[in-house]
Amino acid sequence: MDFRIGHGFDLHRLEAGRPLVIAGHTLEHDRGPAGHSDGDVVYHAVTDAICGALGEPDIGQLFPDNDPKWKDADSSIFVAEAARRMGAAGYAVGNLDVTVILERPRLGPHKQAMRENLAGVLGCGAARVNLKGKSHEGVDALGENRAIACHAVVLLKPSEAK
Ligand SMILES: [Zn+2]
Repeated sequence: MDFRIGHGFDLHRLEAGRPLVIAGHTLEHDRGPAGHSDGDVVYHAVTDAICGALGEPDIGQLFPDNDPKWKDADSSIFVAEAARRMGAAGYAVGNLDVTVILERPRLGPHKQAMRENLAGVLGCGAARVNLKGKSHEGVDALGENRAIACHAVVLLKPSEAK
């Protein structure tokens, strides 16, 4: 059977006065990701994981950050476009595993909402989506809460497969 695997990585600086949006979910915090769009690292990494699995252009090529159209954009539109391309190529999500690296705040109480947001945009069941939070143990910019990063790995299966 023709499975495809893809990996995505993203990182944004955290700046005061920006909303902290992660997987479409807004958390109370004193800072949020700097970026041209809303800076949602999960949605960006997942978009790149799916596009990577399909062998298609990456998020920066599909949605150039010098295009005013994407200023402060809701990044779910990037995931939705990746999902559209996935469906057009005859694939569906087998499973998706996401790791968010963030020192503060803790993601525990928000994980389920994030999984459901991802599943909703991808058009799959939440059981196919996993999301973990990791601290960076106080080390480097991530550990000093000056940045947020995300790794995503996705397995795509042919749409007709169970
Ligand atoms: Zn990004």
